[in-house]
Amino acid sequence: MSSRARREVLSTNEDATTEGAGAEADAEARLVAPVVAGGVEEIEEAGLRPRSLHEFVGQAQLVEHLGIVLQAARQRQQPVDHLLFAGPPGLGKTSLAGIVAAEMGSGFRITSGPVLTRAGDLAALLTDLQDGDVLFIDEIHRLHRSVEEMLYSAMEDAKLDILIGKGPTARSIRLDLPKFTLVGATTRTGLVSGPLRDRFGFVGRLDLYEPADLRAIVERSARILHVQVDDEGATRISERARGTPRVANRLLRRVRDFAEVRGDGSINGATASEGLDLFGVDQLGLDKVDRAILMTLCDRFEGHPVGLTTLAQCVGEESDTIEDAYEPFLLQCGLIQRTARGRVPTLRAWSHVGLTPPSGLPVGGTSTLFNS
Ligand code: ADP
Repeated sequence: MSSRARREVLSTNEDATTEGAGAEADAEARLVAPVVAGGVEEIEEAGLRPRSLHEFVGQAQLVEHLGIVLQAARQRQQPVDHLLFAGPPGLGKTSLAGIVAAEMGSGFRITSGPVLTRAGDLAALLTDLQDGDVLFIDEIHRLHRSVEEMLYSAMEDAKLDILIGKGPTARSIRLDLPKFTLVGATTRTGLVSGPLRDRFGFVGRLDLYEPADLRAIVERSARILHVQVDDEGATRISERARGTPRVANRLLRRVRDFAEVRGDGSINGATASEGLDLFGVDQLGLDKVDRAILMTLCDRFEGHPVGLTTLAQCVGEESDTIEDAYEPFLLQCGLIQRTARGRVPTLRAWSHVGLTPPSGLPVGGTSTLFNS
């Protein structure tokens, strides 16, 4: 197996579809967005990525399973089976793919589903691989159908079926490919087709991180960035990071800015809280728009169900943005509920915005969600 550490980024922001570009633009404006916020952050993130399973914090069971899969492949001197990592953005799927390549001493190639628009794009990529290489396809659920179908034989038999010519003279030829490992990542497991999912030998699910793991990630990143942060400072940042390492690292960088401008550059509990308050990230990790949504539901509509369009107009956002970027975390925290008649705030939301629900109003989630 080769010991190259070749890393080639085959996707660019320009290549991304409008959906991806929209999410990035949103992230630039939002400190707590889980998706990567454009070029500068990508460069900064590269330096913070864990490089080995040992450095990868949290996700203990997944790390243990993956460790066994990698060691077994090393012992057999074979490439690792194809792997699929699933979970929300910012939890470490790309980092894990890089770790697989590093641990196997293989070359690493990165691309993403929306970038591979034609089967020819994939063919060019596959025929350029070398034995043992790891090919990472981010957002694999967004592969074009013809590209996905070409992947089947590549994954299963290391063969590539290419159609040459058109019409009655067209013929198909089979090319041998090097033995490679495909690592796919998806934020939407449900959208990965059955035939594709079945061709992965191992599917790992990443969950939101526990506070203690996030704190360890903040401490590790602070060491790499040469920022002094004490226990309480790391705890305050991790509490507001929405269970997501990418958000934790971004908050750390903003608190570092704050500490350098308003203090002596070191971060303690008070600096972290003050800095994050200043940047509008509250104790639950909610930002201005999250809170505006809660205030609209509690104050303006007094807890009555509100339709998505109305809610979006009240907070000055697009309906899609509310649904994709804001609602998932509010639902996850048990702050809002979606009912057939619209969105309603839970008791936890009322208490978070410091208001009392009107008496007699059936409040969403009274029995299950008011747990903190
Ligand atoms: P994804 O591909 O799931 O969007 P990434 O692998 O790009 O996530 O991770 C985003 C950032 O979060 C990385 O730059 C890395 O610094 C950090 N990160 C993610 N998971 C971990 C982890 N388990 N330990 C340490 N840092 C992590």
